[in-house]
Amino acid sequence: MLKWISPLGLGAALLFSPSGQTATSSLAATWTTDVFVENGTSSQRAKIDRGEQKLREIVRSEAFKNRILNFSYKGAKRFVDSGGLTNSQIYTKILNGAEKLLPAQDNEMDLKIKTYYEASSTVGFTSTSSMYINMNTKFLNAYTVAETMKTMMHEWLHKLGFSHAVNYSTARDYSVPYGVGRIVMDLARLSL
Ligand SMILES: [Zn+2]
Repeated sequence: MLKWISPLGLGAALLFSPSGQTATSSLAATWTTDVFVENGTSSQRAKIDRGEQKLREIVRSEAFKNRILNFSYKGAKRFVDSGGLTNSQIYTKILNGAEKLLPAQDNEMDLKIKTYYEASSTVGFTSTSSMYINMNTKFLNAYTVAETMKTMMHEWLHKLGFSHAVNYSTARDYSVPYGVGRIVMDLARLSL
């Protein structure tokens, strides 16, 4: 008797390789953004637009992937407050782009931004019940595009469900919102 190897079975074996390499590199290549800015001056909006374009380039890059996969805290490859996820799972979650309030894995950063002014030390804030992130123009006006991108990524990671301690500590800088926000800013500074 001849043994059949179905073309379907072979295809499935190739697609779902154990490493998942093919899956994440194609997800990175197609990762995109949909950023809506509700208000703000033309220069505030231009800064956010430029940040959005640059974010697409950075998240698609090999450098971003390497920085996430090799991120370490106290000698171990991990983030603080990782929600039990490995660096690789965090990277995949960013690429999937499933916000808590828009849970389809659409491979896209969906973000709505409102600007406001407050004479405080708060750069921005968001709440779990809203798609909006709020950016304080006291900071936004003085920020470079790279710093603006750090805030956009930080607040969006809250939309994905990542959190961090309220009060400052060294450990908090290694949480997903702070850690990945800093990676985005560093890579933007290298290429802007
Ligand atoms: Zn935060």
